[in-house]
Amino acid sequence: MSNSGRGLLFIVSAPSGTGKTTLVERLVQLVPNLRMSRSYTSRPARAGEQNGVDYNFISRERFDAMVGDGAFLEWADVFGHCYGTSAADTDTLLSQGHDVVLVIDVQGARQVRSRGIETVGVFVLPPSASVLEQRLRGRSKDSEEQIRRRLEVACREVHEFSGYEYVVVNDELDAAVDRMAAIVLAERARVKMMRRRAEEIIGTFADGKDT
Ligand code: ADP
Ligand code: 5GP
Repeated sequence: MSNSGRGLLFIVSAPSGTGKTTLVERLVQLVPNLRMSRSYTSRPARAGEQNGVDYNFISRERFDAMVGDGAFLEWADVFGHCYGTSAADTDTLLSQGHDVVLVIDVQGARQVRSRGIETVGVFVLPPSASVLEQRLRGRSKDSEEQIRRRLEVACREVHEFSGYEYVVVNDELDAAVDRMAAIVLAERARVKMMRRRAEEIIGTFADGKDT
């Protein structure tokens, strides 16, 4: 939580299949006071996915109406379906003092940055293109055509890493989660974040004239 009491906004992006959802789900279990934002999508739920847990699954009509109402902090068409982050949901979490992670694609990340909102961006890379392909196949969620499409998009997306503040290579899962946690903790320890607490502690010291 910053001096203003508002939380920090983290953005995590990675090519589909890199493991960003797996990583961030572990991260929010590990780090207190860190919440993963729940996106809205017009994509149908996959087997095992739950409305209000994995995503807020809504119709295309409702999605378009939310776009018209300016309800999204960012939104994008990703692989033919619409995905968006609710501005109100994010603001509620941040104003409660929670740090929030948006797991969004590179188009969405660009929109948030272009609004001048302060964010900490983490780009997650797979160890190689062939490992990414193995993970997409191993996940068994996508058709062969979808996998090919995801790999094509990945070839373009990986070049966007330099627009982010941090890069994490998702090689070994536990180690990658630890590196993500280290980033969150380091951002929380910045002087601008710690100033109020530091001043409270300093206030418990004598003024130092006699020492
Ligand atoms: P994304 O959200 O980036 O599309 P997922 O979190 O769905 O990716 O992960 C894609 C697949 O890769 C899943 O089957 C997941 O279990 C697996 N995976 C994630 N991280 C690792 C890792 N470090 N090592 C091996 N497999 C991983
Ligand atoms: P999936 O359909 O596999 O769950 O997600 C596909 C892609 O959509 C992923 O790259 C994911 O990061 C992206 N995505 C999920 N939610 C959002 C969102 O709210 N906004 C944007 N821009 N992308 C999102």
